[in-house]
Amino acid sequence: MASEMAFLFRREALHSRGVRSTVPKVEMTLEITHLGSGSRGNATLLQTEESKVLIDCGFSGRQMEHRLARIGVDPKSIDAILLSHHHSDHVQGARIFQKRHGAQLFANFTTCSKLGLDPINQCRIFEALERMQVSPDLSMLPVPIPHDGADNVGFIINSGSNGRAAVVTDLGEPTEELIQHLKGCAHISIESNYDAKRLTLGPYPAQLKARISGRGGHLSNRQTADLLAEILGPQTKSVVLCHLSEKNNAPHLAESEVLFRNEKWSGDLRISTQNGPEFSHWLGQAEAEILSR
Ligand SMILES: [Zn+2]
Ligand SMILES: [Zn+2]
Repeated sequence: MASEMAFLFRREALHSRGVRSTVPKVEMTLEITHLGSGSRGNATLLQTEESKVLIDCGFSGRQMEHRLARIGVDPKSIDAILLSHHHSDHVQGARIFQKRHGAQLFANFTTCSKLGLDPINQCRIFEALERMQVSPDLSMLPVPIPHDGADNVGFIINSGSNGRAAVVTDLGEPTEELIQHLKGCAHISIESNYDAKRLTLGPYPAQLKARISGRGGHLSNRQTADLLAEILGPQTKSVVLCHLSEKNNAPHLAESEVLFRNEKWSGDLRISTQNGPEFSHWLGQAEAEILSR
């Protein structure tokens, strides 16, 4: 009952901020909001009744505060920041945000040392494929993924009984291990970085093109669509395509490639752009909530 009241109160608060909302069909659960995604910065907010956790903190400290303020979240209420890897579009605001607001940083040892962080006092170290409790009602499993001299991980998030969510960006190709962990997730946020034709014909030097499309680069729209075709089923209610290249991709290309290869899937498909937050998903619910600008 108490949780129902808190939930209703929250809906009221959203309405009073002028946020358009749909009425959720499930009780308050994990809420996933992309604050922005792309080569200029990435951050995803996970909210439950008891926790607020960021996956990556790839905007400046001020930008992070600004984007959180737009959805009425106090930066001091962030409990933890999980870092996927050390590239600046995923970590640039992490240290300053920690200093200003006291959130606990989590990273694996390679990421922690590449960032020059003290693994005892400044960062909690996680191990690949070992589940870790991040906050009272959120645990995560880091799954290693291949990417550019980085020890990158995708995160599989568990929160209560409403299933699992996945947030996975920056990988040259999907691994069998990743595919197994993505199967059955109720929400999947995954990168769809480039359109192969645009990359080939585009302005990048040959070496950079080879790096992006190689095993340590990023997923193309086609790779993401094929990966989703292997794993999407009725349990997956929502998918967000992330980290779209502004030069080598376009939202309609990523979306149509995924829909073309996943015609039978009936969940909610959205694109996270660089200028979030634009929408939220609740775990286990297909409908998204559109956030006002
Ligand atoms: Zn990266
Ligand atoms: Zn990135």
